[in-house]
Amino acid sequence: MPLQPSRTVGELRELQQLTGDENGAQRVAWTDTWAQAQDWLAGKLAGLPLEAEVDPAGNRWWTLRGRSERAVLLGGHIDSVPNGGWLDGSLNVLAAVEVLRRIIEDGEPAVTVRLVDWADEEGARFGRSLFGSSAAAGSMRDQEELRKLTDRDGIALPDALAAHGVDLDRALEARKQLETAAAYLELHIEQGPVLESMNLPLGAVLGTFGVERHRITWRGQAAHAGSTPMAERRDALAGAAKLALEIREIARAAGDGAVCTSGGVVCRPGIVTSVVETAEQLLDQRHLDAGKLASMLAAAKEAAQRFAEEERIEVAWERIWNIEPILFHPQLVDFCDEAIREVAGTSHRLPSGPLHDAAEVAQAGVPTEMLFVQSLRGLSHTKLEDTKEEQLELCVQALDRLASKTIAWVAATQP
Ligand SMILES: [Zn+2]
Repeated sequence: MPLQPSRTVGELRELQQLTGDENGAQRVAWTDTWAQAQDWLAGKLAGLPLEAEVDPAGNRWWTLRGRSERAVLLGGHIDSVPNGGWLDGSLNVLAAVEVLRRIIEDGEPAVTVRLVDWADEEGARFGRSLFGSSAAAGSMRDQEELRKLTDRDGIALPDALAAHGVDLDRALEARKQLETAAAYLELHIEQGPVLESMNLPLGAVLGTFGVERHRITWRGQAAHAGSTPMAERRDALAGAAKLALEIREIARAAGDGAVCTSGGVVCRPGIVTSVVETAEQLLDQRHLDAGKLASMLAAAKEAAQRFAEEERIEVAWERIWNIEPILFHPQLVDFCDEAIREVAGTSHRLPSGPLHDAAEVAQAGVPTEMLFVQSLRGLSHTKLEDTKEEQLELCVQALDRLASKTIAWVAATQP
């Protein structure tokens, strides 16, 4: 039977019926509902000529042996956030299931094809995202911290994992799964408004943004709101306010999708009768180009210094977190672009703001690509998350084309 994209839409609705409620999807990793979704998925794949396996990190694999053991991986995550959407993660898995069915119909593939359902992409219960993929990629280095994490009910992470057959101490043994990996493909909803604003259904993802996160502390002098003339004030909030506006210009000047966000300012003493003495400001900057990200940070620091002098206050910077941009494989980006043009006429290349399992796999050195489908109103992680049915069918077709091109490429580039 040829590819049936409408079957994917039907299965997504079936999964939502089974594991969602009036507030949205409830497939939080390491819960009974998640296990129920996994069993349902296993049922969909039962009867197909696939080898099923659960790795030591709880990732589920289905392998279709090909003429070569080098493998093209199709990935997704069936877990969701609480009150989540019906597409985030499960679309990736179910579209890949449909592509697998089509490949099986066509007979033994030139290379091995594997479906992976990553364990706990969302990190919703314990606050640690990309659990399964970081174990497989070998980048999980926080096992001591993971051991101490508890959920809202005080249940420790290792105990919750054990209830699902996963031993935290052995999770990194999942690394063996990527030994034969020659390429990794992941479909995902965009979770942002870019494709919708361009009136395009699909996009080829260039990579994931690098991120710089800082806490900026401005220090002035608390002074009485009534007795201190305007010219005499050393107002810490003035520095934060100027910077909050300046970062718009910094992002605009960097271009290529650059974003800067001042996500919060906490003022002290924080009373209506005092000039602000300290303002703690949070800044998040993102870009796909490491050099541009560095110059955005430098521009923000330079502007902050200037504002501090203008306002006669002090400013100090502290890095909270950062990550380098992760670029996807240029050949696979080209294939994705081609596949999109074949099924939808027009394509668009765009960066991904959120991190995904694909970022972990790419960092492990496996050629990686993601395909985005439009998100209505850019909404995700809510029951309002949605994509038009015809676009869901289109993305299954595009993933199928991308998989075919990638299989042929891997087969032709035997090491
Ligand atoms: Zn996701």
